[in-house]
Amino acid sequence: MRVPVVLIPGDGIGPEVTEAARSVIDASGASIEWRVHHAGVAALEQGVKPGDASRNALLPESTKEAILETRVALKGPCTTPIGGGFSSVNVALRKELDLFAAVRPVRSIDGVDTRFTGVDVVIIRENTEGLYSGIENVITPGVVTSLKVATERACRRIARFAFEYAKERGRKKVTAFHKANIMKLTDGLFIRCAREEHAAFADVVEYDEVIIDAGCMKIVQDPSRFDMILCENLYGDLMSDLCAGLVGGLGVTPGANIGEKGAVFEAVHGTAPDIAGQDKANPLAMLMSGVMMLNHVGKTQGRPDFERAAARIRGAYDAAIRSRECTRDLGGSLGTRAFADVLINRLAQL
Ligand code: ATP
Repeated sequence: MRVPVVLIPGDGIGPEVTEAARSVIDASGASIEWRVHHAGVAALEQGVKPGDASRNALLPESTKEAILETRVALKGPCTTPIGGGFSSVNVALRKELDLFAAVRPVRSIDGVDTRFTGVDVVIIRENTEGLYSGIENVITPGVVTSLKVATERACRRIARFAFEYAKERGRKKVTAFHKANIMKLTDGLFIRCAREEHAAFADVVEYDEVIIDAGCMKIVQDPSRFDMILCENLYGDLMSDLCAGLVGGLGVTPGANIGEKGAVFEAVHGTAPDIAGQDKANPLAMLMSGVMMLNHVGKTQGRPDFERAAARIRGAYDAAIRSRECTRDLGGSLGTRAFADVLINRLAQL
């Protein structure tokens, strides 16, 4: 039976990389009924008038409803127009669908030359609060504040999510990155909840804590010390990009935003307007997000065929990159479409 999945092409390089990823996924044996819906500037162009003012002008109700129905989406990057009161479509999606956990696996890829080999870290980022709650105030001209929010509910559920993720995938250790020595209440609550949630997993997953500044130093000295990293919102945002830099950058870093109501899979990179429409973008991060999506569907909808398809795609791109068949950002010479076609050919030979 075909599994319905929402596909959001997005803006900038989004349509090129999502189309490339979709064609490779279709060639992998995963049977998907793609339902194309729009978000970002593409949604405005599809008829939601910017003057209509709702902060959802970039995120039509129909797109949200489609995700709530299928519970799975593969999403290209979306532009947030500057000015005009638009809020980021990415933030709106996470908030409105309560996608509380960001998952960012960071893995070395054979053939991509970087300072380190054998990096294999998963970052779990709390997606809904912290300093990204957006509660900022002007106290008096020249004095502004930004409120960092931590709730026990959100701290507990992200910790539990991390331990469950570790247990399901046989990961050994979760390390909380924090600054509870300074932010004793907010970060203090975060690690207290993590410690307490760990109790139920202590026989299968190790847990430890690192103060984030020292943690940054340690991870760039030796990333192999870390297995999974658990962070509140802002730290998770920063650690994701730092770790992407350990393995070759934005072209190879996938991500997922997961909640009770659904899961949205998307690359960490943005719309890259400088190369949009030129067949230069690397679709790998989007495809890797698609591989995460296939594994997620496999697990949550009991579809081992999707997990097999995910493994086949991974095999195909690992082999292609090892033989330097890749896009320019990774040292190859292929365009977006040609790289996808190479993978489709390799899948046919597997
Ligand atoms: P946005 O405003 O949407 O975040 P941006 O260009 O500011 O867009 P990114 O899209 O993350 O930020 O791009 C940062 C740099 O990385 C750009 O030079 C871009 O061309 C490059 N880049 C990003 N994604 C890719 C990709 N998939 N393939 C090749 N280069 C990429």
